[in-house]
Amino acid sequence: MSVRVRYAPSPTGDPHVGNIRSALFNWLYARHEGGTFIVRIEDTDQTRYVPGSVEAILEALAWLGLDWDEGPGSETRYGPYVQSERLALYREHADRLLADGRAYLCYCSTERLDALKRARQAKREPGGYDRRCRDPQEAEKARAENPSPVARFKTPLEGTLAVHDAVRGEVAFDLSLLDDFVLLKSDGFPTYHLANVVDDHLMEISHVMRAEEWLPSAPRHRLLYKAFGYEMPQLVHLPLIQGPDRAKLSKRHGAASVLEFRDEGYLPEALLNFLALLGWSLDETSELFTKEELARHFTPERIVASAAVFNREKLDWFNGVYIRKMGDAELADALAPWLEDAERGLPSAVPRPIDRAYLAAIVPLERERLRKLADAPQMLSFFFEERPAYDPALLVPKGMDAPGARAALEAALAAAEETDDWSAPALETAYRALAERLGLRTGQLFGAVRVAVTGRAAAPPLFDTMAVLGKERCAERLRRAVEAV
Ligand code: GLU
Repeated sequence: MSVRVRYAPSPTGDPHVGNIRSALFNWLYARHEGGTFIVRIEDTDQTRYVPGSVEAILEALAWLGLDWDEGPGSETRYGPYVQSERLALYREHADRLLADGRAYLCYCSTERLDALKRARQAKREPGGYDRRCRDPQEAEKARAENPSPVARFKTPLEGTLAVHDAVRGEVAFDLSLLDDFVLLKSDGFPTYHLANVVDDHLMEISHVMRAEEWLPSAPRHRLLYKAFGYEMPQLVHLPLIQGPDRAKLSKRHGAASVLEFRDEGYLPEALLNFLALLGWSLDETSELFTKEELARHFTPERIVASAAVFNREKLDWFNGVYIRKMGDAELADALAPWLEDAERGLPSAVPRPIDRAYLAAIVPLERERLRKLADAPQMLSFFFEERPAYDPALLVPKGMDAPGARAALEAALAAAEETDDWSAPALETAYRALAERLGLRTGQLFGAVRVAVTGRAAAPPLFDTMAVLGKERCAERLRRAVEAV
């Protein structure tokens, strides 16, 4: 049997991480098996539709490099891949169940259903619809209440139903807790249950891999497959994703839309690697995987049932790892747009475009400290600004006064002007000798020089930084420091 899996998002907003984790696992499995990865848009709940979200979902997939074999726009015998374009298929299926007596029309008004729900809630009773219209005589009486009825499925009144899940094994459901759920709504749109089952069957889906929150739907789907005489795909429910506090993952945990991660400067390779480990692992220790390696190793057997923890620091760590893997020129190219951005980039006084060769020389100095590309403008600004601003008090090292600091900076300026070899080792030798001549601790002299040339008390290694900044810039900044202190 060939593997055909689908990612079936509802266009109800930007794709969040849990959602894209489902996409990733399906993609990995399809690629592992040489199967087919399908994107199907489940837009049957018109009240929750958010314009632009289909585009955002497809953009997130493309950014992560999760290419689909079939999806919106594909011309195959399985399409269309947008549920609102498949309404006739769902109606036909609902009609079949109505004709078989496995479903019935329900005329109950929204008011009646709301009142029923409120009464149940007040009594803290479970259960949903009371099955009034399941009785044909009652239905006949109710007809007047509602000109546009819904179609409901006749759920067995009792018994248990075992559903097999690849991750959890047999899961038993008490049928008496299921009500007669809606198949077709009064607007002619199907419910999630009907559309999902019809499409998974017609699209010949072999494995349904989706988040655990959909597990309660499994018995309803099982009943529908049986009623249609269709074989049910293998179910694979992915574990819940929780925040470090073990609560359901939410915005509060910094788990934003996947596109927000992109906009904060996470690398797609890093986010992908991180997401792959939310519920799957190869072994106890391996953590770093490329997309291709993941596809090679991915099997559903290694998906766990227990909840996965979304740890933002871990994601930052992954991002740092992938940033460190980049070559100087490659990272410079990745950083340039962030630095040049009009709003979030370097101060507007810094001319654009920035010098790529200069940036490539800076990259080795900052790579270790860089966690997100979006941090670069703040971290690197002193390399580009003509006059990095700082508090002149910082120029006076501990244990010294302002005149002493000025004398030290003057000597540092003179040493800079005299130096012909502007390499880091030569600068270090010169400044160590200078500290000794002035009777200063190296920490004192280097600290004052660091503030003068970078405007900061903490910066990458001083002499490497000076080497990259160049003689002219450093001398100019030392001159200004002498005046400022
Ligand atoms: N439309 C559902 C969602 O938004 C799909 C659930 C499923 O994969 O069956 O997640």
